[in-house]
Amino acid sequence: MNDIRVFPVRAFHDNYIWVLRRGDNAAVVDPGDARPVLDYLRAEKLKLTAILNTHHHADHVGGNAELLQHYKIPVYGPCDERIPTVSQRLRASDRFTLAEFEFEFSVLEIPGHTRSHIAFYGGGMLFCGDTLFACGCGRLFEGTPQQMHTSLSKLAALPDATRVYCGHEYTLSNIRFAKAAEAANPELAKWERTASALRARDEPTLPSTIGQEKAANPFLRCDQPGVIAAASQHAGKPLTDPVSVLGAIRDWKNNF
Ligand code: FE
Ligand code: ZN
Repeated sequence: MNDIRVFPVRAFHDNYIWVLRRGDNAAVVDPGDARPVLDYLRAEKLKLTAILNTHHHADHVGGNAELLQHYKIPVYGPCDERIPTVSQRLRASDRFTLAEFEFEFSVLEIPGHTRSHIAFYGGGMLFCGDTLFACGCGRLFEGTPQQMHTSLSKLAALPDATRVYCGHEYTLSNIRFAKAAEAANPELAKWERTASALRARDEPTLPSTIGQEKAANPFLRCDQPGVIAAASQHAGKPLTDPVSVLGAIRDWKNNF
């Protein structure tokens, strides 16, 4: 195994910029804002060696240009011209090595929130941006329920112990919705207790794990009777396939 450690840097209201550290080296995932990253690097005496972007939204890439003024480093990201600062454009199954970390990530294409959204997977860690959230999923800005279902299924197929580092602190509000979408799931009350305790101490609820998501996240449970029943009731018609169920609970969540 590797000796990489991961720390959250907060940005805006509820974004997390994940910092990977090994020795004096750092890499950042989704630096929406350069300022808190530069402050962290200075305080911790770290050198930035790479930027990773999951998708083109400003709250995930907005700090790229300023960081590149301070560091001449590669920017790994999706094949999407809307992120002009990306230097290494990645596709499904691509692998790349962070040299200073002696560490290799593989790339998953997970469209749905945006059409070119990717995730980084390696060393038991998943950086999934705004596609999979703890107990929720991203809005379908540029994708269909079918695409999101396929993308979430790819992530759900990763080992249960995989640590899930997503882009926002949305866990408690997601759990509140999940309790409506699958009232009988006992995992939700348990998770709500631990997440509430963390938030009360102003600590992140992340990372979660793939195992935890499979047990509690309704968007990964669109084949479960309780979720199907709640989705059907909300839609006002019987839904039978997981894609329609996902579409219905995503719509429901948008106005929850
Ligand atoms: Fe975001
Ligand atoms: Zn986004």
